[in-house]
Amino acid sequence: MTLTVDRPVAADVPAYDVARVRRDFPILATRMNDRPLVYLDTAASAQKPAIVIDTLKRFYEQDYANIHRGVYDLSQRATAADDAARRKVQRFLGAADWREIVFTRNATEAINLVAASFLRPRLQAGDEVLVTEMEHHANIVPWQLAADAVGAKVVAAPVSDTGELSLDAFVDRITPRTRMIAVAWVSNVLGTVNPVHELVRIAHARDIPILIDAAQAVQHIPVDVQDLDADFLVFSGHKLYGPSGVGVLYGKATHLEAMPPYQGGGDMIDRVSFAGTTWNEIPFKFEAGTPDIAGIVALGAAIDYVEALGLEAIAAHESEVLAYATRAINQLPGVRIIGTAREKCSVLTFAMEGVHPQDIGALLDLDGIAVRTGHHCAMPLHERFGLAASARASIGLYTTHEDIDAFVASLRRVGEMLQ
Ligand code: PLP
Repeated sequence: MTLTVDRPVAADVPAYDVARVRRDFPILATRMNDRPLVYLDTAASAQKPAIVIDTLKRFYEQDYANIHRGVYDLSQRATAADDAARRKVQRFLGAADWREIVFTRNATEAINLVAASFLRPRLQAGDEVLVTEMEHHANIVPWQLAADAVGAKVVAAPVSDTGELSLDAFVDRITPRTRMIAVAWVSNVLGTVNPVHELVRIAHARDIPILIDAAQAVQHIPVDVQDLDADFLVFSGHKLYGPSGVGVLYGKATHLEAMPPYQGGGDMIDRVSFAGTTWNEIPFKFEAGTPDIAGIVALGAAIDYVEALGLEAIAAHESEVLAYATRAINQLPGVRIIGTAREKCSVLTFAMEGVHPQDIGALLDLDGIAVRTGHHCAMPLHERFGLAASARASIGLYTTHEDIDAFVASLRRVGEMLQ
């Protein structure tokens, strides 16, 4: 049975029923190498519930047309569906105004937009952007592009051996030249949950704008952007059980209004002439060209889905499975967990003595187990831990103890074979 969009969240919701939840995900019935698929790469991209897949199909079959362009009924229906999805994202993030929600291709594009349109015009030679050593490349390289263009630099706050930020060390890295701070809410490698409310207070006490990369947070932690008060927050739909190809930039309306467009083209203009062009209102000023309309609508369905399950219930389930997996993997000889922060969620990154992570990934795959291997788009963090690569199992709302048992048994065999 799949959840329906309008399913109410009852106060007396039954205990989290992971077996029922799994039936909402058609791909989880797949067999790999003649074994049940054990999908432990949700942090890279989450699998999709039937409601999201059905929404995409139904939208293309019944409601599809380009948006904001036609006076005809179908185009207006598609526009209304796009608007409704934007308001869903607004509500999901607790934003005061739907105009503060910009649809992008993904979190990466959202950060590039802020780096190019917000930061670049205010950056001068010698200025600094503060990030942390645990950032995904998506929250490093866009700032480097902006900095390199003017002779500014990107500075990283250090991460401890347990994978935590020290607030003192973070504050020490702030200088009178710091023009922007950008931090992940949750690290995609360490699983560390950063104290973002405190970081926003630290930034604002010094009049520095701050962007929160919530790509690994929105699927685990309820967000209220008004309470958080960050200037910008980004996430990707595909990690929130929605389709790939759609992401979100939340920005305070005052910032978005003052920022120049990021890309030019259709839909982002008010009037175009060869004498000069004027811009559309926010958020459309930042949405040049035809967006992934069906993807946006299906992202709305994904939000309905996780909200119906309840983010608190999802987080409680995932953290129980993470604790179970951590205990089990700690029993294996020669395995070192990277990231043991007190506040941690959903990912278990590890190195196995004498075994290359690539071999772990390939051998686990023979048992139908999908884990991520490599640098996970966080090379500076791996360097910090003296590693070229690692292996990562990540946990989602559908992960079970049986998944973890299969993973640990397979990993044990890899160790016995190669260590
Ligand atoms: N930030 C973090 C913390 C991530 O984990 C990821 C993806 O893994 C990204 C940003 C980039 O997401 P996307 O590739 O969807 O733009």
